[in-house]
Amino acid sequence: MLITNATVITWGRPNQILENHALHIADGKIAKLGPTTDLLQRYEDDERIDAHGEFVMPGNINTHGHFYGAFARGMSIPGEQPFNLPTILQKLWWPFDRALNEEDTRYSALIGLVDAIKHGTTTLFDHQSSPNFIDGSLDVIATEVDRAGVRSVLCFEVTDRGGDKRALAGIEENVRFYNRCARSEVAGGRVMANIGAHACMSITEATFARLREATPADAGFHIHVAEHEYDEYQSLAMTGTRSVDRLYNHGMLNDKTIIAHGVHLDAGEIRLLAETGANVSHQPRSNMNTGTGIPELESYARAGINTCIGTDGLGNAMWKEWEVACLVPKVKHRDARRMPPDRVIESAVYGGASLASRYYPASVGVIEPGAFADVIFVDYHPTTPLSPDNLAGHIIYGFDESMVTTTIVNGEVLMRDRVLLTLDEEEITAKSRELAASFWKRYEELVPPDLVLG
Ligand SMILES: [Zn+2]
Repeated sequence: MLITNATVITWGRPNQILENHALHIADGKIAKLGPTTDLLQRYEDDERIDAHGEFVMPGNINTHGHFYGAFARGMSIPGEQPFNLPTILQKLWWPFDRALNEEDTRYSALIGLVDAIKHGTTTLFDHQSSPNFIDGSLDVIATEVDRAGVRSVLCFEVTDRGGDKRALAGIEENVRFYNRCARSEVAGGRVMANIGAHACMSITEATFARLREATPADAGFHIHVAEHEYDEYQSLAMTGTRSVDRLYNHGMLNDKTIIAHGVHLDAGEIRLLAETGANVSHQPRSNMNTGTGIPELESYARAGINTCIGTDGLGNAMWKEWEVACLVPKVKHRDARRMPPDRVIESAVYGGASLASRYYPASVGVIEPGAFADVIFVDYHPTTPLSPDNLAGHIIYGFDESMVTTTIVNGEVLMRDRVLLTLDEEEITAKSRELAASFWKRYEELVPPDLVLG
């Protein structure tokens, strides 16, 4: 395949913007990048896609999401309203995930996949929770990810919240699915796995030990850490040690491990994450939504931690998340110099690409020969001069996901001129509305009437 007449943003180092360029794609990878006139001569028999001068850039990467939360949109919480993360978990997420069945899980994933393709997000790290549908849940999601065509790293949230049997089933689901992915059996290697765990506050030392014991040595972990102070308080109450120290003691920190949130880390925890190469995924909109606080992402990066950006289930529109990541530290510190657009790009683009590339045998998130052909077309018309030096400002303050016209992953076209080619959005949305209506009733029956203060 040959993409012609593109304004290519490479996200290489240094980043380049190349006008009137072409990409030759073969076997799911970028084989050649050069001026359109040169590549047209060389690959004249290839199938062609004319970008008509649009920006062609690597697809975005969401480093922490939850397909399973899709039915929460527009849902009301009965009774007393939760006001912080512990009470939001009690009244919303814990009864919510217990109500999920296989069909809900399938359609929740499909909703997220449609959203991702339309909004130009081509790699998704997902964290599944469905305590009454554990065994085989990752295969159900993987089947839909395969059909949709995106790149994804999946896992299941292990927790002691549902008792010993469910904790064990969660471990087994992770390990079984991890081994399938390690053999490149799932979507030809486009779907990979890590080992999921809910959070230190809901996992005992015995379960962490069993999880580590069952997990292959080279696997990364994906876990919420210090999203709220309660996570640290519970770790200290249960074990006398802080959350990251517990993960370190169990040998769960490595350069594939994703620490989601990390809002309330102390200096020692930051040092452990930097030393072990673990990654921190930042979800600013979710942190604002639950009132948990905003992590010191700039400090973490200065300490040497690879930082990246996710949505925590609030859709897959990454530029929206990047904009908030840029704005909210300015409010927190009452200092407009905080988190400049270039710093956001360091985490959102380079941090995410670095993490994703640790899970795959070729580079993800960059346009260069040999990298995976995961690219999007963006119909953006700059109204002021644009160069590699000020591109970050154009993206943060000017790009919008509705400008994405074409999405390609692994060399396969998933959306062309805003028409989805792999998924039937109308069928998915109609069926989802139907499933969500009965799901909401089941959820309501499981919600505790009163708050137990956390
Ligand atoms: Zn999360």
